[in-house]
Amino acid sequence: MHILLVEDDDRVAAALTDLLRRHGVVVSRAATGQEALAGHDVDLVLLDLGLPDMDGAAVCRALRRSSAVPIIAVTARGEERDRVLLLRTGVDDYVVKPYSSAELLARIEAVVRRTRRGPAATPPRPAVSAPGRGRLRVGPLDIDPDSRRVTVHRTELQLSRKEFDILLVLARAGGAVCTRETLLDQVWGATLFGSTRTLDVHIATLRAKLAESAADGADGADLIETVRGVGHRLRVPTHRA
Ligand code: CA
Repeated sequence: MHILLVEDDDRVAAALTDLLRRHGVVVSRAATGQEALAGHDVDLVLLDLGLPDMDGAAVCRALRRSSAVPIIAVTARGEERDRVLLLRTGVDDYVVKPYSSAELLARIEAVVRRTRRGPAATPPRPAVSAPGRGRLRVGPLDIDPDSRRVTVHRTELQLSRKEFDILLVLARAGGAVCTRETLLDQVWGATLFGSTRTLDVHIATLRAKLAESAADGADGADLIETVRGVGHRLRVPTHRA
């Protein structure tokens, strides 16, 4: 996730940038209203309303005119009157100073979750044969969601929780491409700060484990296919297991 942080105070900006980066967020910063309106391509704008050059509400309205990007406003205590006006300018939510890191992160998560609910984020329908209760067979893979065990040609894979979840989402898609957004949404869900880089790391370790299992002649190495710029899919053989 990429956030535009609009904050004139360097110290506050540095602390927030640090906090967000530790949660896997890519942060760009604007120190003025003018900079905020320079056409950033981001997933969310965190907007301090007390800016030196422009009224915060005017920045909101200007952002809204050009984009549907989610906006969380940061207001100072005692500006209750303004908050109603703010919501009318098109902000999605606001936090009041002083706020805790936990509150800010929770609000960002909630806003992103709400605004991500588009058709593109709808998970693909399961299309894989299910031999047992909820069990999935995809090519050489046998996945049991109940016991969270995966075997490749009867050799059990030792997967981390996230690796298992990723594999399960891919298997349930039955060979259809799962977008990076879908994988992040399904695997990291409410703790949305799994970044695409985190996803890449997990896909890489998952691939390595599948390749290892393939060392004795099995075909696990190229099971996960990456569709550049879109997401990942399982290479499903044409015949169903
Ligand atoms: Ca300020």
